[in-house]
Amino acid sequence: MSKWNMIIDVAECTNCQLCTLATMDEYVGNEFPGYAAPMPRHGHRWIDILQKERGQAPMIDIAYVPTMCNHCDDAPCIKAAKNGAIAKREDGIVIIDPVKAKGQKDLVAACPYGHIWWNEELQVPQHWPFDAHLIDQGWQQTRGHQSCPTGAMRAVKLDDAGMARMAREERLETIRPELGTKPRVYYRNLWRYAKCFIGGTVATEVDGIVDCVEGALVRLVRAGTVVAETSTDNYGDFKFDKLDENSGTYTVEVVKGGAKKSVEAQLGASVNLGEIRL
Ligand code: SF4
Ligand code: SF4
Repeated sequence: MSKWNMIIDVAECTNCQLCTLATMDEYVGNEFPGYAAPMPRHGHRWIDILQKERGQAPMIDIAYVPTMCNHCDDAPCIKAAKNGAIAKREDGIVIIDPVKAKGQKDLVAACPYGHIWWNEELQVPQHWPFDAHLIDQGWQQTRGHQSCPTGAMRAVKLDDAGMARMAREERLETIRPELGTKPRVYYRNLWRYAKCFIGGTVATEVDGIVDCVEGALVRLVRAGTVVAETSTDNYGDFKFDKLDENSGTYTVEVVKGGAKKSVEAQLGASVNLGEIRL
């Protein structure tokens, strides 16, 4: 049986917000009985785009991560709901029944991803229901997928084995897998948000003129072991990426010809070591 999944490519998301606007266009002021009560105009972010800036100028980048209800296969919200107010469909989509869930404000806290929103006016908990009312009319995309200009957001229908294979082959990840909720929203290039880098620029001074050093060998050393190696580009820049945040002390060793320099880096978040003068 094939089921719905969402695949998000963090490297392709530009934060244009067209997916969030399309979702609001679909739900604000519109009622879909059995699927969703109207979304309020303010206060809810059924598709919520997280952002993280990494590094310091001029070595800096920004990643955007669209998040939403993960339509978890082992969903704590379903266990917490009374009267069967939240249920998983055969196609993988989780639905909060807007009638049965009325008054169940504690369901907001039942979602560890913070993706149940409380509608104060209607006294009902809400989430993004994978546009199930459209899917049931034969749509093969969600509004967010349809509106995404870069292809960063894509709804796919696959059986569980096929989805697991795709996740393995394309190195897709889920957010906070340690929660054990089995999310159906997968991410490509999540490292651009979740991991960090150590970078810098190698320069040297000859006859009073400072110039960048191309082709210097740069080693990243941790606890006496070389964990990565690279060389500087034509601007003298180097970068070691996909490192764990708060992973401790590293030494960056730079070698070119007979010159050598070592710099220590304490890795909390991404760091630009700036100029390293050989
Ligand atoms: S993300 Fe939250 S609301 Fe959605 S299915 Fe999982 S636990 Fe439930
Ligand atoms: S529409 Fe696509 S590119 Fe724009 S914010 Fe949404 S996911 Fe990102």
